[in-house]
Amino acid sequence: MLKVGGEVDSLCTRCNLVLAHTIHAMVGPRPVKVECNTCHVVHAFRAPARGATPRPAPRRSLKGPTISFDEILRTKNLAMAVKYSPRTTFAVDQVIEHPTFGLGFVSAVLDGAKVQVTFRNDVKVLVHARGA
Ligand SMILES: [Zn+2]
Repeated sequence: MLKVGGEVDSLCTRCNLVLAHTIHAMVGPRPVKVECNTCHVVHAFRAPARGATPRPAPRRSLKGPTISFDEILRTKNLAMAVKYSPRTTFAVDQVIEHPTFGLGFVSAVLDGAKVQVTFRNDVKVLVHARGA
C-alpha cells in the first residue's frame, strides 16, 4: 500500500518521465505531493499515463453491477407496448407483449428481418417485418 515516505511511480514535471518518486503527502489512498527520486523536485502527484496506480472507475450512477429487467422496463413507455406479431416491424426500445414470454423490449434489430428481444427471463431472437 502507498504511504508517506514510500515510493510511487509518478510523472515527473521536470524530467517529463514516469519515475520513482517518494511520497510527501497523501489524501486518502492517493498521493498528492511527491518528490522525484531523480531530480528531487517536489511536485503534485501525476498518475502515469497508463496503469501503475490503477484507480477504481467511479460508478456512482449505478446501484449495482447489473440493472434489473424491471428497472429497464420502468424506463420504457409501457402504454406503447405492442402485441408481438411476426408481421409487425419493430424498432429498438419498443416494448413488446408476447403471448408466451410476456413483456419485453427490443434490444437490437438484426439482419434478415429479426429482432433481439429481452424478456424477463430470456433474450429471444424473433422474426418481424414479415409484412402482409
Ligand atoms: Zn524528476
